[in-house]
Amino acid sequence: MQQTKAGRPRHRLTKSEQMARVRSRNTEAEFILRRALWRHGLRYRLHVKLPGSPDLAFVRAKVAVFVDGCFWHACPGHYRAPVQNADFWRHKIQQNIARDRRVDGELATLGWIVVRVWEHELRGDLEGAVRIISDAIGRYGGD
Ligand SMILES: [Zn+2]
Repeated sequence: MQQTKAGRPRHRLTKSEQMARVRSRNTEAEFILRRALWRHGLRYRLHVKLPGSPDLAFVRAKVAVFVDGCFWHACPGHYRAPVQNADFWRHKIQQNIARDRRVDGELATLGWIVVRVWEHELRGDLEGAVRIISDAIGRYGGD
């Protein structure tokens, strides 16, 4: 958030308020996806011990799904670099991206298919996201 040229401060959330907001959005996005998968009869597992701790996984099909927050994973459409502590955040987000790529590689080596869904996709095109996941596991539309 920037200050205007005239120096009139806009309302600013503190960093912890911003982060709390970002986190709760992503958690909410995960729930939206889980509900939709359930509705389509796609039964996932949570907390499967794998590199990167996927948000959910289809163990038999070996499909690992991550819901990537637009902020934390630098979505090309929605990521805006924080103005305050810019260096800290640039470093932090770059580390996240590097970790994502490393995790993708590790999972692939173990024979897993990785599906990453942007938080914003779950809001804009939930059915599309479900279809991508169901294609990955090889079926669509319930048991
Ligand atoms: Zn986004």
